[in-house]
Amino acid sequence: MADLLPYYNARTECPVCDSNIEYTKVRSRAFKLVKQDSDFCPYYEGENPMLYEAVICPECGYASHITSFSSINKYEKARVREKISSKWTKRSFTGQRSIEKALEAFKLVLLNLYDMEAPKSEVAKICMRIAWLYRYKNDTTNERKFLEFALKNYIEAYGSEDLTEKGKIDEYTCLFIIGELCRRLERYEDCIKWFSRLIMSNADPQQKHRIPQRLVETARDLYQEVKDHLAGSKEESHET
Ligand SMILES: [Zn+2]
Repeated sequence: MADLLPYYNARTECPVCDSNIEYTKVRSRAFKLVKQDSDFCPYYEGENPMLYEAVICPECGYASHITSFSSINKYEKARVREKISSKWTKRSFTGQRSIEKALEAFKLVLLNLYDMEAPKSEVAKICMRIAWLYRYKNDTTNERKFLEFALKNYIEAYGSEDLTEKGKIDEYTCLFIIGELCRRLERYEDCIKWFSRLIMSNADPQQKHRIPQRLVETARDLYQEVKDHLAGSKEESHET
């Protein structure tokens, strides 16, 4: 009855060492998205597929988000071989993943991204997932630490990357997530600045059709919440 397991092993070729490797995937019928936090942290009924998004080559240590495993250029391959493979102890990451095991896997992806000098948007995407894993564990100290890394990298990505490239976060979702991370990290003035940019872009007929309206609505709600909060704390400080 092996086919009843919620996960299974798929095969792919490692683009760095050319080994034919196994990695574990969750069957699509084994989970259901039940809710998402305002920064998109997902909650599932059944197995959590997010835990399996970090794919690691057991032979050479190359690790990547599942959506970009094959998209690695010559320069990046050389960096992985030099910085990662040379120190790698062969080990497998297949089978059911605990949050701890997922954390280890995602941190390997992060290390790979740093060593191959990957785009900041990729680094930020992985930092977000690590922060969510800590959120699942109620470890707020580490969650904040990785939200901070994500924020720093998203701001750099926004200022320096072409976010119209395929597979990348689009510039409006990037604006939203920067605003939302500022809110979560209690940088309210910055939060207002970033959400305003998104709301203002939406007022431009040239841009409006490219912006997911749900994002703008959520940004407006959160913007108002932060404004109210700031007004409230000013009142409080007058009273004291
Ligand atoms: Zn490999």
